[in-house]
Amino acid sequence: MSFSNQVKEELAREIPDKTCCRRAELAALVHVNGRVGKADAEQLELVVQAEQAGIARKIFTLIKLVYGLQTTVEAKTRRRFKKTRIYKVHAIINKRDIDLWQRMQSLSAAGNKKRRLDTALIRRNCCKRSYLRGIFLSRGFINRPESEYHLEIVLQDLPLAKEIQKLLSKFNLFSRIVERKRNLVLYIKEGEQLVDFLRVVGAHKALLDFENVRIVKSMRNSINRQVNCETANLAKTVDASVRQIELINRLVELKGWEFFPAQLRDLARLRIEYPDKSLKELGDLLDPPLSKSGAAYRMRKLEQWAENIIDVSS
Ligand SMILES: [Zn+2]
Repeated sequence: MSFSNQVKEELAREIPDKTCCRRAELAALVHVNGRVGKADAEQLELVVQAEQAGIARKIFTLIKLVYGLQTTVEAKTRRRFKKTRIYKVHAIINKRDIDLWQRMQSLSAAGNKKRRLDTALIRRNCCKRSYLRGIFLSRGFINRPESEYHLEIVLQDLPLAKEIQKLLSKFNLFSRIVERKRNLVLYIKEGEQLVDFLRVVGAHKALLDFENVRIVKSMRNSINRQVNCETANLAKTVDASVRQIELINRLVELKGWEFFPAQLRDLARLRIEYPDKSLKELGDLLDPPLSKSGAAYRMRKLEQWAENIIDVSS
């Protein structure tokens, strides 16, 4: 199962304790994946779609708990690009239930384009979280943490996308909106933010899995960085060493070792003997030993002196 579906399965299992949150989450589910139509003169029918059996079960349960309505679930196999199952939760609303009838009718009358977020439903923080959970269950997707960090919510209308963006920002979650194939895609791309999102909507198990992968990933990155850095330093040391050895050998050929002043000769001999040692290590081998900067200074002196003599002699 994909990580995204794993997150949804976890979120679908949890039924909020408080009525306010149940109402908010159901509103989100109905908002983006529900539609209301006339069943007959006396009845309205609410149909909410879900892509997972667990989500359908949650919608079924919430409708019963919040509105006390009788619901049925229907599963359909849909063939588009590949075979997928789709679930539809049906609930019948009687005209005598005036309150609910009006609420559902206003939802339906608003049509697909202008569904606005009912701010009264999400006044409390607990309800804001529940609403976001419902939106993610309906339209969300999150990449597995091993690959690129990416979470998105696919919506049809800009006002709703902007309202959800604002809602996310209340939890310091910062998203962007782009258009893709006539849809609006709200997305978050930062690892830390994805962890925060999972925390906000209450996907605690998925959060732990995500964090574990993230830790391994960031460790691997920092090791890679370190290795790259060490390789670069090593390459620098080797380049310098090759240059120094060439210089020393030419001078020895020209003038012989006796020509070297004692201090410079010791260092030059060590350089030839240990071509891959750093200046610090060569400094340690000198008698008396020299610090890293002392050895570097003496090596510079040796190189300048050798170059001068070779220049004059050639
Ligand atoms: Zn609440």
